[in-house]
Amino acid sequence: MSVLPILRWPDPALSQVCAPASGDLKTLAADMLDTMYAAPGRGLAAPQVGVLTRLFVMDETWKDGAPNPMVFVNPEVIEVSEAQTTQPEGCLSIPGILTDITRPSEVTLRWTDLDGTEQTGHFTGFAAACVQHEIDHLGGIVTLDHLDAETREQLLSEVSQ
Ligand code: ZN
Repeated sequence: MSVLPILRWPDPALSQVCAPASGDLKTLAADMLDTMYAAPGRGLAAPQVGVLTRLFVMDETWKDGAPNPMVFVNPEVIEVSEAQTTQPEGCLSIPGILTDITRPSEVTLRWTDLDGTEQTGHFTGFAAACVQHEIDHLGGIVTLDHLDAETREQLLSEVSQ
């Protein structure tokens, strides 16, 4: 297992639509979890380490001392709540920038685990925002893409100062 370099925005790999994942993904997933913990972060998508395949990892509770590593292969959103929540989101590929993003408060996903078994899960709170953020990455979308041009310019100019 190893810690991989995390690509920084605007690396072009972060704007690509990822292909369906297939084959043996255990090494990639293990390396991505190592990379996420080392960063440190709570979610990481394959394109952030330059692999354009539909896979992400998440562990929303390890920072609270209760590790729960999860690997999502070919995740799909199957239902979202009408209720929406706005929370600040950071991204390991865009260090130093937090953006307020409005998303459905709850989301149900279907995905495959590393053993090839289909899973479904319902996510709320931080985890709901996190899985939607990571699925955005698989479609080539980053937090900044949710902002209007003016807000985005302002944020980027504050960071570059
Ligand atoms: Zn991100």
